[in-house]
Amino acid sequence: MSGRHATGETVREFEKRLAAFVKTKGAAAENSGTAALHTALLALGVKEGGEVIMPSFVCTAVLNAVNYTAAKPVIADINEDDFNISYESVSKKITKKTKAIIIPHMFGLPTDIKPFLMLGPPIIEDCAQALGARHRNGRPAGSQGSISIFSFYATKLISTGHGGMLASSSSRLLERARDLLDFDNRKSYKVRFNYKMTDFQAGLGISQLAMLEGFIKRRKAIAAYYDERFKNLPVVLPHGENHIYHRYVVRVNKPAAPFIRMLVKGGIEAKRGVFKPLHRYLGLAASDFPATEKIFKETLSIPIYPALKEKEKKTVADTFIDITGRMR
Ligand SMILES: *Cc1c(COP(=O)(O)O)cnc(C)c1O
Repeated sequence: MSGRHATGETVREFEKRLAAFVKTKGAAAENSGTAALHTALLALGVKEGGEVIMPSFVCTAVLNAVNYTAAKPVIADINEDDFNISYESVSKKITKKTKAIIIPHMFGLPTDIKPFLMLGPPIIEDCAQALGARHRNGRPAGSQGSISIFSFYATKLISTGHGGMLASSSSRLLERARDLLDFDNRKSYKVRFNYKMTDFQAGLGISQLAMLEGFIKRRKAIAAYYDERFKNLPVVLPHGENHIYHRYVVRVNKPAAPFIRMLVKGGIEAKRGVFKPLHRYLGLAASDFPATEKIFKETLSIPIYPALKEKEKKTVADTFIDITGRMR
């Protein structure tokens, strides 16, 4: 460590390494993924009067970041097969006021953003759940949007406790983001943000980033085990191709709530894909989000993380198979 407790050389080194890893020109470390998303929006000039499109099937952190800017959040539906934002839905919601489209790669499965790039507005790739994943063309997730953001929260692919990063290949956008973060000792005043990462966190991030490939290998091995154990069950398993399994989200083809209750009772940490879809929080008509509604109701995730022990993964699979049999 550099001996400096605040933002110093270690943070700069972590930024360099992450940018090299995701193949962008540069990166700016922050204290959360939400902060990185807020800064990304501001760097793109998003403000009151503008609109920002995002999927309904995502955590409220994304909605929060847009609301910090006072722009209008516009909620899009998702695809039933990969749980990612729907191109068809987004293309219907674009207006002259659309200033950005936030595309999260949900649960570790990158969505093909090429068609979205043709729509016009800048794309923010939300890679909070997809650090280390690759697009079908082999490019790293986070290398194709105008800006990408990452989270290093405790449950994410690598962790610094709390933490985040913004990455871009546009020097102009990187400069604007850094200007917003560098609030001290400036000649002229404007509102800037104390979103900095500490050297302590960056040190942790650097060592975690070096272990990421191993973490992902382990996640894929557990997913392959689940895939094999569950192949004859009447459920839809997550996509294999390009998936790094930040979460293992299964579609049970009936209401997931009783499955989740029984799994939790059996000591398995089963969860909804998201706590509640954004359109429900905002009181928007459920009929406008048919795929999100269906997927929210019929999916659940079961534990998948590098430290999961062999015995534990077997218990998870046995319990899930047993409950699925009883729910038939
Ligand atoms: C976790 C997450 C965020 C927010 O990151 P924090 O570090 O928790 O602020 C944003 N988007 C997605 C898709 C996430 O999973």
